[in-house]
Parts: sequence; structure tokens; C-alpha cells
Amino acid sequence: MGYRVLIPTPLRPYTDQQDAVDVEGQTVGDALAALTDRYTALRRHLYGDDGKMRHFVNVYVNDDDIRYLDREATTLKAGDVISIIPSVAGGAPVTETAASPELTHAEVHRYSRHLILPEVGPDGQRRLKAGRVLCVGAGGLGSPAALYLAAVGVGTIGIVDFDAVDVSNLQRQILHSSADVGRSKLESARDRLSALNPEVKIETHETALTSANALALFRGYDVILDGTDNFATRYLVNDACVLLGKPNAYGSIFRFEGQASVFATEGGPCYRCLYPEPPPPGFVPSCAEGGVLGVLPGVIGTIQATETIKLLLGAGTTLAGRLLLYDAWHMRFRELKVRRDPACPMCGDNRTIRELIDYDQFCGTAPSSAVPVAVTSIPAMTVDELKRLIDAESPVFVLDVREPQEFQICRIPGTTLIPLGQLPARMAEVSTAAAGRSIVVHCKMGGRSAKAVGLLRERGIEASNLTGGILAWIDTIDPTLPKY
Ligand code: ZN
Repeated sequence: MGYRVLIPTPLRPYTDQQDAVDVEGQTVGDALAALTDRYTALRRHLYGDDGKMRHFVNVYVNDDDIRYLDREATTLKAGDVISIIPSVAGGAPVTETAASPELTHAEVHRYSRHLILPEVGPDGQRRLKAGRVLCVGAGGLGSPAALYLAAVGVGTIGIVDFDAVDVSNLQRQILHSSADVGRSKLESARDRLSALNPEVKIETHETALTSANALALFRGYDVILDGTDNFATRYLVNDACVLLGKPNAYGSIFRFEGQASVFATEGGPCYRCLYPEPPPPGFVPSCAEGGVLGVLPGVIGTIQATETIKLLLGAGTTLAGRLLLYDAWHMRFRELKVRRDPACPMCGDNRTIRELIDYDQFCGTAPSSAVPVAVTSIPAMTVDELKRLIDAESPVFVLDVREPQEFQICRIPGTTLIPLGQLPARMAEVSTAAAGRSIVVHCKMGGRSAKAVGLLRERGIEASNLTGGILAWIDTIDPTLPKY
């Protein structure tokens, strides 16, 4: 019998860009075997060296996680749809009305469209006014979320960030404008939110969120809105929320797809119940590498704000226990069940994690660096060294493993383009084209090329990684090229 397997964006480079593949089989295991037989490069993304399904990939049949069915032995029936859901780089009533502040005449006027909603009304608006929400990050997700939270009158909005506004942020981070480029995101956010609604208090925390400061910071808020862009911070936010019993309005985005849920509510699941372990560093490209549709964080961040408002009101139905998936390219929303895992080390019946841990170590990332630890163990070359080799007409073959649209923006002269996803199938081409010359591999910043060097070396092909990628080349060697 035939079944459809839905392929998420991060894995489409390994399925010839197809978003759905029809396969045959009796069980989920058969269907996935048929899929990975057809697309062999996909296998290492789904299975570890031990042949077991990777922990950062979840498989669903319709809206059920196979971990709660018969795992890979789950029998399929006609019409079943299998979804592969990898982790991507995105309540209880919390305030007592009695303690909530009264509304001023100006606030009654401002929030009149809320006050006439029976579900919100004056009592609900007072709860929002008493509410304290912490946005982790003032970027793509934090922008729409903070704007709406301020607009609707959430009394205190905290923001944690330590970045400055870059011109490439403006395509999606709508808190900031062109005049803010170079300013701290916190200052820019404070100005914009205060201009929108001077009734709300903005608390800024100019710091990186760490295991040392997260608990103290979160303690002062009712709801935490996770707008982070990396796995180390995402697990840190989750664990701190579970430890403190604070609901976590979660969102994540990649290219055209987003996820949203609510974690760490009483009796509800946490992020670790969904994804027990992070993917290895560099396995999932970041938005800086993979790109993101400008409006996508607008949709997901607004959903996070919606969930936050309901958590503060203590009313409505939140996404706790459900994972909402949004595909902007095909304009599809889907919903999957997420259960609290009794074996979860964080929120399960026998918790083994009772305090915050070292999240850089847990995620295998070096602190305050985007470069995975493993990258340091492969041969590297600086852009100056490469320039000297090219100028001296030394025999060097430069391989660019970015995507064709990136190659179109800028390129190092004389390079050969083979996107990383195609490399396993085109290894022979590399050896032939290099023709004995030494091979230097580059991408945008050095992450994908490090993986490419690893793949080449596995096949016995020596190569080195260009440190800092084409961005370093532009900074140091050729500033006339456009940066992206
Ligand atoms: Zn959990």
C-alpha cells in the first residue's frame, strides 16, 4: 500500500527539493526504509551510526507521535500520512484580579475594543495590566510579539538581548527601523514600544541569557516568550521555565516553516518532551545560513503573543499539549499532539535535572561562538593564505558549497560551485576537477564548508576549510563584493 511522507524544509535538499514523497510498506519502519533507500543522503539525518532514529527527529503518523504508538513497528493503514518533524534553529492563571491595578480613563479609552469583549472585559484588561512578560530576544519573533504585547496593554514587558541592529535584520525585525542601524536593539525596542504605548513599562536586560542569570531574571515575570535563535538558549529557556513553573510561549522559524507551542504549564509537556536532545552543532542551518521569509516571524511571533495573552488572562485554550506547524510557502497549518513524557529528565516522573546545566556543552557549541567544536579539528586556511596562493598561481582548487542563489550574489573568482546537499553524490566530480590541486572549501561563514571538508576527508580526499567563509574574504580581501 502507498503512503505519503511529508518532508520538512531542512531535509528537502536531500529529497531533490520534494516536499512529499510517496512510498510503500506495511509499517513506519518499512516506509522510512523505502524513503532512505531512494534518497540515501537522507539516511544520516534520520538515523545515527547505531541505526537508531535520531533523538532530534520526531516521526508522526497523522497527528500522533510514533513514540506513543509502536514506534517504527507502527502499522500503517490506508490514507495515513507520515510527517518527519526535526527540531528547528522557534498555564495557569498567573495574576489575581483582586491584586490587579484599576484602569485609568485613558486606558479605558485605549483598550475599549478589549473591554467590550466579554472574554476579556475590564477584569481581563486589569490582568493584562498586572502582567509581566519576558521576551527572550528582540529579533524576528520578539519584534511582533513585543509590539502586540505593548499594544494590548501588558503592563510590564522585559526584553533580554545584547545585539545591535544590523541592516540585514530589517527585512523581518519590525521593531527596528533604518535609523536604528548600529544602535542597541534594546534601546531601539524601548523607543518603539514606548511610542506605541506609553502606558506600559519596558524593562531592558542587556545581557546574554546564561545559566548563571536565567533563574533570577525569569523569577520576576509571569510568562516567558522564547524568541531565541539557537539551541543552547532554547534548552536553557525551557529548563529555567520548568524549574520555576513559568509557562513558556515557544516559537521557532526556518525558511518558510514555523513551529509554536506552549511548554512548562502545570501537567503539560516541556520542550525536552518533544526533543530530548539537540541536533549536533551545524547539523541544522541557522536562519543566517538557510534564510527566512520576512513575514514568517511575524506570523509565529504573533501566535506567541496570542498564547501569552491567554496565559495572562487565564482563559481560552492554549497550545499546551499541541505543536502548531505553519508552512508559509503552501499556506498550511497543521497540528500535532505533544505529550508530557513520563521519562523526561526535566519534567518527568523521576527528574534527573534539578538545576541549570552548561548548555553550550549540552549542545556541543563553543560559548559565544557560532563555530562548532568539531570544526577546530579539521585543517583550516585563512583568506590571506588563500589570496597568496591564488596570486602566486599555486595549484589550488576552490570549492564553494553554498546554494546557487548565494553564488549569484557574490563569489570568489575561479571557484567551482557544488551545494553541500549535492556533495555526497558528486564526490567523484570534485577529485576529477581538482586534478591533484590542493582543495580549499568555503561557504558563507565556515559552517557548511567544515561539514563538506569532513565529508571529503571521509572519502579520503584531503581538503581545508576557509576560515570565516566568503564574508571574511569580503572583509579582508575584496570589499567591492556585496555582503549578505
Ligand atoms: Zn519534559
